[in-house]
Amino acid sequence: MRRIALLSLAFALAACQKATPPSAPSPAPLKETYDASASADARRIEADVRFLADDLLEGREAGTRGYDLASLYVAQRFRAMGLAPAGDDGSYFQTVPMLRGVRQADGNALVILRDGHERALRFRDEFLPGINVNEAQASVEAPAVFVGQGVHAPELQHDDFAGVDVKGKIAVLFNGAPAKFDNDRRAFYSSRATKAGELIRRGAVGMIEVQSDDEQARSPWQRRADNWQTPGMRLRGADGKGIDSWPQLRVYAMASAASADALLSAGGHTASQLFQDLRDGKLRAFDLPGTLRLASHTAITPVDSRNVVARIDGADPKLNSEHVVFSAHLDHVGVGAAVNGDAIYNGALDNALGIAVMLEAANRLAHEKEPTKRSLLFVAVTAEEKGLLGAEWFARNPTVPAESLVANVNMDMPMLLAPTSDVVPIGLEHSTLQPLVQQASKEIGVSLSKDPAPEEVVFVRSDQYAFIRAGVPAVYLDGGYTGVGGDAKAVQDAFLKERYHQPGDDLSQPIQWPDAARLAKLNARIGRLIADAPQRPQWNPGDFFGEKFGKPAAPAKAP
Ligand SMILES: [Zn+2]
Repeated sequence: MRRIALLSLAFALAACQKATPPSAPSPAPLKETYDASASADARRIEADVRFLADDLLEGREAGTRGYDLASLYVAQRFRAMGLAPAGDDGSYFQTVPMLRGVRQADGNALVILRDGHERALRFRDEFLPGINVNEAQASVEAPAVFVGQGVHAPELQHDDFAGVDVKGKIAVLFNGAPAKFDNDRRAFYSSRATKAGELIRRGAVGMIEVQSDDEQARSPWQRRADNWQTPGMRLRGADGKGIDSWPQLRVYAMASAASADALLSAGGHTASQLFQDLRDGKLRAFDLPGTLRLASHTAITPVDSRNVVARIDGADPKLNSEHVVFSAHLDHVGVGAAVNGDAIYNGALDNALGIAVMLEAANRLAHEKEPTKRSLLFVAVTAEEKGLLGAEWFARNPTVPAESLVANVNMDMPMLLAPTSDVVPIGLEHSTLQPLVQQASKEIGVSLSKDPAPEEVVFVRSDQYAFIRAGVPAVYLDGGYTGVGGDAKAVQDAFLKERYHQPGDDLSQPIQWPDAARLAKLNARIGRLIADAPQRPQWNPGDFFGEKFGKPAAPAKAP
């Protein structure tokens, strides 16, 4: 899961925020417990989480031995349940080729050359280059232009590029997208990928994201600086080069709010006024005087990881060539800066629990008397924490025909830390999956609650977004917050603040195994209803994501 405040979305690709000391002391050493009264399904989920989130798996970072062990385990669980391999060449695995980039301590620069003076920002303290998998030592010097938040949204009559030309220049911009946009569009236009695409289309040669004062207050620069060595990854194409790695932007960099004045105060502008204009939605583009020199130094190595893919065949001779895809990410962020002496970021909730719930849903469906009409695919994906890379690879290169993917049911970091009676369905409003999810929740006896933070647009924050971008309608169920005898929301908020993406997301968490078993039951039921429906799911007419990415659905083949 990559849950972050909306305006700092753009930083997610470069840095897992994992160095804030939690306010609670480190948990006591883990005591193994055994609940003889637990139901069989809850016990299976607990067993999977206890294995996957153990210290021996070392945080399951993509490209490490810990991750490879986790993927081996999931493959053998599929085998034990009787699911057929559906990866490459008759195996359970799909290789995901990637490039790993790690910043180097020397050879980085962000120099402002203006009015005959030179001001070099300090590496780490004031700026960090983005992870560059295209060139180990890259540099560019060019005139610069400030382009607001770098958003061009003609359908909303919004153009941050009005009156300036960025061709051959370095674009300097703020993160995020205007608050006046609806949540879906705000998320889409906030993403670094959308912005980089727009800059490349306009001929920019570099990009600098300047942190605002509001961002600094929410997410201090120091956290990024502390994690400057965290590796970044991109998918690797057949030519050995990075996919979606924007080589046209020779260098991109992030600059701290404290250095904004040095960069932006020119021609009557000041950083503090621009921060205010950002809050007021009144930013205007302007050319910056002089030139900027940018350089980055990155150690680049090819690395392979793997998705784990298994299939349950559908029974309907017409519909079984179509697939409902269940997904959950198996990777986490690995080993990092120690917090209270603990450097292993176990990822018990994020996302050992999501994987365990998916495995239990698979187990249920594998043992139902009647097979489903459509086929079911289960994909444990890698490198979600590096930017949804495993899911993106699968959605672009599925091991079954792409047009056969009818829907995605994703599971990511269900925050089941106190007993609840509900779940939060994410993405229901976009497609015809809505009535099916409603029916399943009714049958299982779980209420559906509203998304408590719609402005976070978690619909674009996990693996389902890779499927959405491939035109496949998707849904995922977040843990609920209607507490049974306690304030579940307060417990979740404390988790997000103190343990999410921290060593504290480990087996000492009070995970509610019976609620996890209920979630598996619900996901299995949703998958079954989709698989048995006469029509494959459709995007709702006029839906933003449907119009942006959807294709007219091909009908199931006639007999
Ligand atoms: Zn995560």
